[in-house]
Amino acid sequence: SNDYRVVVFGAGGVGKSSLVLRTFRDSYIPTIEDTYRQVISCNKNVCTLQITDTTGSHQFPAMQRLNITKGHAFMLVFSVTSKQSLEELIPIYREILEVKGGEENLPMILVGNKCDEESAREVTVEYANEMVAKILKGSGFIETSAKTGHNVPESFQELLSMDKTRNMSL
Ligand code: GDP
Ligand code: MG
Repeated sequence: SNDYRVVVFGAGGVGKSSLVLRTFRDSYIPTIEDTYRQVISCNKNVCTLQITDTTGSHQFPAMQRLNITKGHAFMLVFSVTSKQSLEELIPIYREILEVKGGEENLPMILVGNKCDEESAREVTVEYANEMVAKILKGSGFIETSAKTGHNVPESFQELLSMDKTRNMSL
């Protein structure tokens, strides 16, 4: 099909829904519960970008697996105010690799949200980059604030740009 599916994972409260809504509220038509669709340009043509905003740890394992199976690109969100929210991404990341095993250049981005909360920060940029290098290999890293809007559309655009098989823009 001509759909391109992005799945947003992360612990409850890290700001997944805020990031998705800030970027897509105006142009998206909610379909089923937490899925948004928008027509975007793709290889000088159009395709339907589908964003699935998951419910984090409240997700049923079978649902999480299905989302991974159907997804083309993955956004892994933590809050820079919670080291635990970063650690909670590791099993999700491992499951993505397991399900998508062998797929080359799997588009994946680690997003450190709530970077406006400097005084409550638990995860430094250096630590997050270390995680990317050691554990979340091959993924990009970007800090965002869904509160101020800092880097929010950029994080989605960056993820789309990681897919070298299609030329996509929001
Ligand atoms: P989700 O459970 O991951 O979907 O998180 P939500 O988008 O529902 O956000 C959880 C809470 O964090 C809400 O109170 C948001 O207003 C707040 N929040 C989300 N993003 C940010 C951010 O970048 N900075 C700050 N300070 N608060 C945020
Ligand atoms: Mg949510």
